[in-house]
Amino acid sequence: VSESHADRLARAVREEGLDQLIVADLVNPGDSGREAQADVFWLTGFTGTSALCVVGPDERLFQTDFRYTERAGREVDPTFERVEAKGQALGELAKRLRGRVGYDDARTSVRSLRKLADAVAEGVELVAVDGLLGGLRRRKDADEVRRIAAAAELADEVYEWICERGLAGRTEREVQLAAEQRMRELGAQGPSFATIVAAGENSALPHHEASSREIGSAEPVIIDMGAIVDGYCSDCTRTFATGELRGEAAEVYELVRATQATALDAIRPGIGGKEADSVSREPIAAAGHGEHYGHGLGHGVGIEVHEAPRLSQRSEDSLAEGDVVSVEPGVYIPGGFGVRIEDLVVVTADGYRNLSSVSKDLRIVG
Ligand code: ZN
Ligand code: ZN
Repeated sequence: VSESHADRLARAVREEGLDQLIVADLVNPGDSGREAQADVFWLTGFTGTSALCVVGPDERLFQTDFRYTERAGREVDPTFERVEAKGQALGELAKRLRGRVGYDDARTSVRSLRKLADAVAEGVELVAVDGLLGGLRRRKDADEVRRIAAAAELADEVYEWICERGLAGRTEREVQLAAEQRMRELGAQGPSFATIVAAGENSALPHHEASSREIGSAEPVIIDMGAIVDGYCSDCTRTFATGELRGEAAEVYELVRATQATALDAIRPGIGGKEADSVSREPIAAAGHGEHYGHGLGHGVGIEVHEAPRLSQRSEDSLAEGDVVSVEPGVYIPGGFGVRIEDLVVVTADGYRNLSSVSKDLRIVG
């Protein structure tokens, strides 16, 4: 039996010299979103949006309120003591704290910290901790990789379905809605982010989502999408064309495709996020498009669609076995068009395994 997430965290808490770690969204306690609850879901399996946990070497506490008691009974790791808060959630949690207690300052508001500090017993020391749980969440175990791979495979099926139905003559938004509906029909909880459909000059805007613009003929169409399966996200981008691309568009497509292959070759344990990004930046700069590649090479993907590690010039991360990252160079010509190609890969002992299987040959879709 492999170590549970809670086992791994309890060990890290002890190694950090803490008696306890609070795992919760302490920005909006009691009313969090899916991403704000990512740590709690990773730790316990709980999918509700209100829960506070405490983990130490000798204890595991899961506190929720009456709305979620039944769900907690079904979902939460049975090694946790489950507590239903009857009154003010933070006040009740505070009664259980003792010794040196860590909290994640990136997920804690000043107001919640003040409430906690007022409510804890004398002698309790609240210590800001950065990235303790996040560092563990980066390294996906076999079960997590299976879920992400299933989400990636589901999105691959949606790409095929979209291509069969055609793109030209439909609006970006129609394609977006159809893709997301299809994901759900195939068993996804939903899209992992708002599906991007960017045609023609809109493809030059890396942050374009989808509009009422009708997709024309012989233009590039970027479709960037992912699904959520069993709580885990996928992320993939393909650039299609609604007719033969000529001139610069055809050249840029080949440049991005070759660059993406070069960047994939560099993915292995030990490579820095900055170094991997540089590998992808060099061929694009050499082709004269350095200033047209305005985002990082990639990002970690898991319970959240953007999480550690980062592959960019500002990254201080190094890749390690079990990281799941996107590899997504792009070139965007202002006022013209853009091309992005993105795969999702898991870092293995000696390289990577690609979880995206849609062909990267330029596909002409009518
Ligand atoms: Zn993407
Ligand atoms: Zn991405």
